[in-house]
Amino acid sequence: MQEEARKRGSNVPVRHGDKEDGMSKRIELDCGAVVPGCEFVAHGETPADVLAKLAEHGRAAHGIEHLSASLKARIMAMLEAA
Ligand SMILES: [Zn+2]
Repeated sequence: MQEEARKRGSNVPVRHGDKEDGMSKRIELDCGAVVPGCEFVAHGETPADVLAKLAEHGRAAHGIEHLSASLKARIMAMLEAA
């Protein structure tokens, strides 16, 4: 009986305490949506924030000097749909 309870206890999913307060909605975007195969995920609080991080990563990791307007539009559309 005790063994059973302990097993179940270890199966409780990890909780992130600061999730449902409605204020800090975190947005994320896979770089893989833009550069297939890349596993980088940009996080931010606003679409612009995420876009800035993705642009920074793109420059550092993929040598993309700046995101083209059409790519930006695609990313913004993805972020707004999320
Ligand atoms: Zn990437």
